[in-house]
Amino acid sequence: MHCLVTGAAGYIGSHTVRELLARGATRIVAVDSLERGHRRAIEALERLAPGKVRFARIDVRDRAAMSALMREERPESVLHFAALTLVGESVRQPAAYWSCSAGGTASLLEAMRDAGTERLVFSSTAATYGIPQSMPITEDTPQQPCNPYGSAKLACETMIAEEAEAARRDGRAFGAILLRYFNVAGCASDGSLGEDHDPETHLVPSALQAALGARPALEIFGTDYPTPDGTCIRDYVHVEDLASAHVDALRALRPRECRAFNVGIGHGFSVREVLDACERAVGRPIPANVAPRREGDPPELRSDPARIMRELGWSPRHRTLAPMVESAWRWMQANPRGYDDR
Ligand code: UDP
Repeated sequence: MHCLVTGAAGYIGSHTVRELLARGATRIVAVDSLERGHRRAIEALERLAPGKVRFARIDVRDRAAMSALMREERPESVLHFAALTLVGESVRQPAAYWSCSAGGTASLLEAMRDAGTERLVFSSTAATYGIPQSMPITEDTPQQPCNPYGSAKLACETMIAEEAEAARRDGRAFGAILLRYFNVAGCASDGSLGEDHDPETHLVPSALQAALGARPALEIFGTDYPTPDGTCIRDYVHVEDLASAHVDALRALRPRECRAFNVGIGHGFSVREVLDACERAVGRPIPANVAPRREGDPPELRSDPARIMRELGWSPRHRTLAPMVESAWRWMQANPRGYDDR
């Protein structure tokens, strides 16, 4: 396997590179602008597989640089993670999100054409579904995103599906798999990689930062939702299981097809349940305050992962919160300042 991975220095990208290497990748071209990604994540990957990882600091929107790199390397496959990923930020800066997601994907698809690379796994999101009428969410649930992050990702999905249609007409072999992630948590079990966002807005690292004293308290965004304990429910998947879904997707990818799969465990946990799991991992109470609802948060997002289990043979190794929050806590204790490479 010779793969080009965009966003390779980010949270999910770096964990997926580690999984690709563990499952036989011979060469990884790791692309990242380092605007949000971490050089130290790349260094950790280089240590795991000396000589197999080539890092290229490129913004995916730089079509000329991407094209030159792809022509030189001629990777068999591309895994495309590079993007901005914060819903709240996307509401404040929609154009930045469209530029990065849609602009980046267009540039990448053109560079792939230039180099004759025909296989793509794309990092999509449950945010493309918006606020669905019923749970669980299947791949046939209507996609009606309710924020710019979700709409820009949906535009990328459409662009990729149209490329596959064009490939069918033109007799090219281009094919893609779109993975729609639910919530992701946890860190590499060997402690080599972690989760480090600035600003950190995600629930598990925010709760653990409160435990560490790096923030005064966790804010619980809304306790008046129509859910059993009043807090929002999300479907959390361990980042290692998500990473392995990408390798499964790569192996199952077929020319001229564009298939979409949900990646979640099919079970929802409330914010309070996540906080409880974090307190158990930490071994003490975590300061938490009730805060107003966060704009744009649906009460419940839960996947039906039947299709990915059936068609790709994927199955999550972790179905409880404990391994996710325990691995995240171990990494945070070992790296209280994150990658500390800014
Ligand atoms: N959440 C919270 N406090 C925080 C961060 C998140 O109560 O400091 C809640 C948030 O409202 C949502 C859930 O935790 O219901 C998961 O949020 P996260 O930002 O981790 O992921 P998202 O679901 O937005 O992708």
